Parts: sequence; C-alpha cells; structure tokens
Amino acid sequence: MKTVLSTLLLFIGISLFAQKQAPFQLIELPYPTNAFGPVISSQTIELHHGKHLKGYVDNLNKLVAGTAYENMSLEEIVASSEGALFNNAGQTLNHNLYFTQLSPNARNVPEGPLADAINKQWGSFSKFKEAFLKACGGVFGSGWVWLAKDKNGDLQIVPEANAGNPITKGMTPLMGLDVWEHAYYIDYQNRRADHLNSIWNVIDWSVVEKRY
Ligand code: MN
Repeated sequence: MKTVLSTLLLFIGISLFAQKQAPFQLIELPYPTNAFGPVISSQTIELHHGKHLKGYVDNLNKLVAGTAYENMSLEEIVASSEGALFNNAGQTLNHNLYFTQLSPNARNVPEGPLADAINKQWGSFSKFKEAFLKACGGVFGSGWVWLAKDKNGDLQIVPEANAGNPITKGMTPLMGLDVWEHAYYIDYQNRRADHLNSIWNVIDWSVVEKRY
C-alpha cells in the first residue's frame, strides 16, 4: 500500500513538473485571422502568427530553460542578450508589438500628445508616413522599421536589421513594421512597397498612443 501511494505521488509530481508553464506564451490575436481582407490575407496571418511567431516563442522557451533568463521579461532579455537568444526574444517581442497594433476597427491617425509630437518632428502625419516608408525602402533584406521614443522623449524613425528592436538603443518602441518577406510575400509577392503602403489602413493609433 505504501509503495502504491508513493508511486502515485511520484507520478503526480512528474506530471506537475511536466505541466509547468513555459515562461513565454504565444499571444492570442485580438481579431480573427480574416479581419484584414485584402490588406493582409488570413493565410498570411495564420502562418505569420501560428508558424513564424510560434517558432520564435518555442525556441525562446528552449533557450531560456534552466538559465537566469527564465525569470526575466522579454524586454530585459532583448536588452541584454545576443546570438540565437537575442534573435528569438527579439522576434517574439517585435511580433507581439506588431500584431497588437493592428485592428480591423483601426483609428488610422494619431491624436493627442503623440500627434503633437509627430507634427513637431516631421511637420505633419503624412510627412512622417513618407519618411517612415522611405526608411522601410532603405532596409536591405529582413528587418523592421520602428517609430520609437528616445531617452529625451523625442520621436525617431529607427530601421533595424533582422530581429532588431530600438530597446537595445535605450529607446521605447511605439510602432513597428515588419519588412521580412514572410510578412507579405503570399499577398504581394515582390511588391513590398505595396504591402507597406496598405498596412497603414489597419494600424490602430489608439494602441500606439498607449505605448507613448
Ligand atoms: Mn514577421
């Protein structure tokens, strides 16, 4: 009887250990995958979120397991790591910011203090957009372009290669566009600029303002 009981307790212990939640979870999308019509197809969203982002999250969990990084926030890991860990943590953070700034009911223009700061820095929202798209065009290969707030509270357009995030430069990322081919190739093939022009229709500036 004693043996049966201790065996049972051992199994309960093992299963609790096995079920210990990984430190990082794939975010749930706050909209259905077909929310964006022709701007971003449901196939692109399904692959981008369910395969690409899931892959980064799974790799990140494997890389942090049993290390000091296990108890750090995503932002702390991105700011303090390099190599494969930086790449997977960076891409997890980048995509969390990317997917949550999109909405089928997007308010397409900033308001309030962020709108004032954009107008002060670039003259108008349309001039800011023009400068941002120019920066996107300047990224050779895979990467991101960010609107970020620097240490002085000023806004900057920050192009980054691969998994880059302006957190590594002491800045706060506010809005980021993914210029990796996986973000648009099914819908736009080689027409990256067309994708980058149309995505502004689904960027919700009410989300971006909260990050400012
Ligand atoms: Mn991506």
